Amino acid sequence: MAKLNCDHVIDYLNGTLSKEEQLEFEQHLKTCTDCQEIIEMTGDLPYLADPVDPPAGMKARILSTVFEEEQKKSEEVKRGTRSAYHTKSGEKEE
Ligand SMILES: [Zn+2]
Repeated sequence: MAKLNCDHVIDYLNGTLSKEEQLEFEQHLKTCTDCQEIIEMTGDLPYLADPVDPPAGMKARILSTVFEEEQKKSEEVKRGTRSAYHTKSGEKEE
């Protein structure tokens, strides 16, 4: 279920979600640090911006870069450099 919402991050950034889907995704966003990081990296929230055509291609490229980096991170863990996964160990979410 959570995975489906994570897929919505792309549509959310592109501003193509319906009002309902957007609200649903924002609920998911509060609990999903993966999506929060992706949105932070893009640097803006489309629904707050002017209603012009979003640079969808550019954001899609950013997103694929994020996912590639996630894969690299997994590779590093497999090779034994586990410290990459410990950057958040001290953080607690309310
Ligand atoms: Zn998510």
